[in-house]
Amino acid sequence: MSVRAHWRLPPAVLLAALAAACGLKAPVREFHWKAMGTECVFRAAGADAARIAEVSEAARSEVARVEGRLSLFDPASDVSRLNSAPRGEWLEVSADAESVLKTALEVAARSGGAFDPTVAPLMQVWGFRNPGRTNEPPASELAEAMCSVGYAGVRLDGAGVSLDLDRGSLDLGGVAKGYGVDAAFERIAAMGGTDYMVDIGGNMRCAGRGMRPGGWVVGVRNPFDRDDVLGTVVLTGGEAVATSGNYERFVVLSGVRYAHIIDPRTGRPVRGMAGVTVLAPSACLADALSTALFVAGPEEGGKIIASFGGCEALFVRDELPMAVLATPGFAARFRPRGGLRLNITVLDQQPGPTAN
Ligand code: FAD
Ligand code: MG
Repeated sequence: MSVRAHWRLPPAVLLAALAAACGLKAPVREFHWKAMGTECVFRAAGADAARIAEVSEAARSEVARVEGRLSLFDPASDVSRLNSAPRGEWLEVSADAESVLKTALEVAARSGGAFDPTVAPLMQVWGFRNPGRTNEPPASELAEAMCSVGYAGVRLDGAGVSLDLDRGSLDLGGVAKGYGVDAAFERIAAMGGTDYMVDIGGNMRCAGRGMRPGGWVVGVRNPFDRDDVLGTVVLTGGEAVATSGNYERFVVLSGVRYAHIIDPRTGRPVRGMAGVTVLAPSACLADALSTALFVAGPEEGGKIIASFGGCEALFVRDELPMAVLATPGFAARFRPRGGLRLNITVLDQQPGPTAN
């Protein structure tokens, strides 16, 4: 972990870096570390360097604690214990696992299964967890994996969790980074933090105003050029933002690139979307919704997100010239980067015939 004097573009989809160009008052310090298979950043504004170092350490340890509970890659985590328990058996799990599962199941239900935390067998069959695969899985393997997927098989009550899935298992990769952001965010708030941002691989939540009156300025990355941003939004009052994209995690099978987000309804990796960015009151919800809307696409996704209070979305289709669509609330807050000609289609979120 280190303090950086300069802003740089993190691999994350969204950047806070643009604030540097906006006339700072208090210095902003930045701490970087790796967790959850990605880069994490804690940023805080203020003059007391020792205090900021202390709270950044608290953020780091909170993320590590959550990772220990929710990682698919840690055999002692709640997720791994559930995945290896006999099907139907009830297990006591941490409050973290219960809370993240609650959000995951709610988004699964309200997205009509576009988001599904039991997508693990499909991730496996497409080679995302199994690097030996070189071509598309045969239909029989796909059909078998599909039989093991279904969020309705996850049962949750106050006493524990049980997986009632035929050979199925959990993968919280689409929601748990956001939960980790919320956990760190709340820990720092409890320590009296006022101006800070927690960022786990582009899942961000901000308190206070950062370096500018008005809030933290975050950039929405151009999915076609990792060094470019499409524009900016200002986050205020504990808001969160998350992006799901097709450009950072993928496999190549028989020469075709498949991104890591799978439509559980077809069993196939999603085609046609390059990136989806979601603003939400919590990072866990922003994370789950960005994955759900990446699967659902703008027309269905615009309607799904309308049922979640305080949430907005921006969609970029996987085509050039770039096709960008946004909910009315996102479009109103989004400032395209100077010099970029973006034609943004504003989605009609009313029930009934879809926009575009
Ligand atoms: P998002 O859009 O937020 O999520 C996509 C991910 O969600 C997919 O990778 C898959 O895991 C899952 N998913 C796919 N389709 C769906 C769907 N329809 N509904 C619901 N979920 C879906 N990576 C490593 O390489 N090594 C690690 O040790 C490692 N540890 C991790 C520990 C934790 C606690 C977490 C949360 C992630 C970890 N990861 C690790 C990364 C993880 O494997 C995913 O690649 C990552 O979470 C994807 O996040 P994203 O923001 O890129 O995409
Ligand atoms: Mg997500």
